[in-house]
This record gives sequence, structure tokens and C-alpha cells, in this order.
Amino acid sequence: MVRPSSGYQGIQDSTISYDSHGRPVKTYVTPKPGSGQSATLISTSHSSGGSRMSPSALLSQVSVKRDLLPSGCRGRTKKSMRPRYITIHSTQNWSKGADPWRHSLALKNSKLGKLSWHYTVDEKVAVQHLSTTEQGRHADYDGPGNHYSIGIEMCEHPGNSRAATTERTAKLAAWLMKEYDIPLSRVVPHYHWPRYGAHPANKNCPHFLLDNGKPGRKWQGFLAQVKSYNDSITLPQSNAWASR
Ligand SMILES: [Zn+2]
Repeated sequence: MVRPSSGYQGIQDSTISYDSHGRPVKTYVTPKPGSGQSATLISTSHSSGGSRMSPSALLSQVSVKRDLLPSGCRGRTKKSMRPRYITIHSTQNWSKGADPWRHSLALKNSKLGKLSWHYTVDEKVAVQHLSTTEQGRHADYDGPGNHYSIGIEMCEHPGNSRAATTERTAKLAAWLMKEYDIPLSRVVPHYHWPRYGAHPANKNCPHFLLDNGKPGRKWQGFLAQVKSYNDSITLPQSNAWASR
């Protein structure tokens, strides 16, 4: 297992208002005082407790490690994407050691055919496989889930904390929402995207955040967690931020 030693470069990138294709994408909007944006926050055990943090401080808690798929991988679509949705999956891979690095290796070795997604998360880390401006193949064949969404897989290997994995995933989704101006209503389970021709069309994924195979109370709890982290993000002072 080879782990990149150079660390994630995206934290620095994120302070610049350009995506990996050099296009400006930052769309931070200063909330109006008294807009009540946080007033409906549902308190959960994963709540940020009211503490505020910058986007990069939140991202550093996610511990993203870039391990991008090389050009020759079958999972690479090389189709550009402006992300409009975030799609949450779980691996349903209960093999010992099936952590994000193992999934990254499988993707890099084209062991999963043409499948690909953007991040794999466990209790310790979030490994990034694809640029968030490149389409993956994780949701619905030739549908909008693949064309417009960032795919996040949550690991389920033995010994991995489901709660910690879900919390890290919520932080990552909250950061991506801010980065790409994606509303909470567009943070969706894989279930959201029908796979025409498959039975059932709507997959029970991520199964442990669904109730009887459909979004319900557990999914709403996850969204509340994402919202609490998104609400905790403070907006950078433009000049001070850019000079860091
Ligand atoms: Zn899925």
C-alpha cells in the first residue's frame, strides 16, 4: 500500500478562486445579518457546538488525501463537470482492510471496470480519486447522477467506526456545498437516482442511512449533521485570506 507522502495540496488550492481547470468557481455569499440562516439548526450529537471555522479549517478536519487516478485508468471519464449535486454511497464491502486506500488501489488498477467516484471515506481519512470537475460513474449509468454529482463512498470494513465515517462524510459534504454553492436539497443518497433497466431501479444505498430502503428519519438525521457543519463555516476576509 503506497501512501502519498506529500499530503493534500487542495487546502492551498481552496484559498484561490479557481478550480482545477483554472476557472473561477468560488461563490461565497456573505449571509445577511439576522437572516436566521442558522436558526433552524437541529441539534445533534455531532453538532459543531456553535463553534465557527473557516472553510479550510473544516476541510483540514476531513483529512483529504489526493490519490488521483492516472490517465489510463478505466474509471477515468475525462468528461468535465460542474458539480450540482453530492451523492452519498456506502461500499457494502465488508472485507478486512477494505479502507479508502484499498479502494483507491482497486480503482487505479482498473479492478472495478469503468466504475469511479470522487472520494472514499472511513473513520480516519477521505481519499480523493477524481477531480471534482470530472464526471465519475457511480450512480445512474448515463443519467444526471453521474453527469452532475460528486460521488462519496463510505467504507464498511470490519473495525471501522460507522459513526466517525458518517461524521467525516458530513464534514466533506458541508465543505463541498460551500465550495460549489450546492444547496442541502441536492445532497442526496444514491437511492435518489433511478437506474433505468436495473431492478430495483432505486438502489438501497447507502443502506445504513435509509429506512426500509428509502430516505427517512436516518437520512434526515444525516442531513441535519451536514447542515450543522455547513452552518459553522465562516466566510474568509478576502484580502487576508488571499495572502495566506
Ligand atoms: Zn451507491
